Amino acid sequence: MKTELKQYTVRQICDGFVYNALEGRGLFGLAGRLTIQPEYQRNYIYAEKGGRLEIAVVKSLLAGYPLGLIYFNHVGDDRHEVLDGQQRITSFGRYVTGKFAVKDELGMEQYFGGLAADKQQKILDSEILVYECSGTESEIKEWFRTINTAGVPLNDQELLNAVYSGPFVTAGRHEFSNSQNANVQKWSAYVRGVANRQDFWERALEWVSKVNVADYMSRHRNDRDISEVKAYFNAVIDWVATVFTSVEKEMRGLEWGRLYETYHRHPYDADKVAERVRALYADPFVKDRKGIFEFILGGETDTKLLQVRLFDEVTKRVVYEEQTAKAQATSVSNCPLCAVGNASNKVKIWGLAEMDADHVAAWSNGGSTSKENCEMLCVTHNRAKGNR
Ligand SMILES: [Zn+2]
Repeated sequence: MKTELKQYTVRQICDGFVYNALEGRGLFGLAGRLTIQPEYQRNYIYAEKGGRLEIAVVKSLLAGYPLGLIYFNHVGDDRHEVLDGQQRITSFGRYVTGKFAVKDELGMEQYFGGLAADKQQKILDSEILVYECSGTESEIKEWFRTINTAGVPLNDQELLNAVYSGPFVTAGRHEFSNSQNANVQKWSAYVRGVANRQDFWERALEWVSKVNVADYMSRHRNDRDISEVKAYFNAVIDWVATVFTSVEKEMRGLEWGRLYETYHRHPYDADKVAERVRALYADPFVKDRKGIFEFILGGETDTKLLQVRLFDEVTKRVVYEEQTAKAQATSVSNCPLCAVGNASNKVKIWGLAEMDADHVAAWSNGGSTSKENCEMLCVTHNRAKGNR
């Protein structure tokens, strides 16, 4: 791979700058000779969080600080695309074209057009160091994989998009990485993340490929058609929405692809499922509400999924000893419920193995799994109370 160090001014790079607000990406610069966001690049993210990062870029230019190295990939005939640095370029391009304001030293919001002429010149004359590279596609991509931008590092899916760039990634991003897509809100009930960081695209690929994303992307790399990914993703989402008719916040980010594969052939009665969800949500012993959905799907057998709250053995033994000593002193049963009854167990001293721990203050009233809130009951009474 050949590299050549060049210097451009902000003015040159911003010549013909176009920002596409709908797709959230900077498109062209250098009078049309520079593609700022090639298809394999991630979306523009420096405008997020109130524009903290894009404002920092402009302030660096105003202060005369270097923006760091930028890399262009030579794609023939004096044409380049940005290999690394598109977030920074899009930041100053957006500023110069009046897309956002930056607070000056007096705290006043200043758009580029409202800046003093000398400050405008300072920005436009700022010099940007650029490495122009030319090499084979695999060289460039391997290298792209290893460079790490100073701002926000590429996440796994952004790297995969770079490595397997092509019509398939383009089509996939158009559907799944576009925050303007009206479906994003619906998907967000079940899938965690944000569209422009590729989270929905990543889940869609993970589900359809049964967690072989790289392999799937490599096989479909040159396809223009993503209908298999879309159909599978929608099948999973529709199935979840049909089985669980109410949306709970704990549903977000569950492994719905795996659950769909495991359970979508089973019939479920949505009304009964809704009733069980409500009951388990109200159950104070359920520690992990995220587990409720798989618990129900699996026929309510795997209680480990709920991480039901339990007292540990040491607490049980200590409480047992105290309770038994008191009971023996007053000649009543060491099960407080037996002690107040009329049966023959009224004076029975149960062994530790014949008793189980119960919460004095119910979980729904904020009772904790602490020694102070622990009471040992005989197994019969404990079961009768319906909890453990
Ligand atoms: Zn009892």
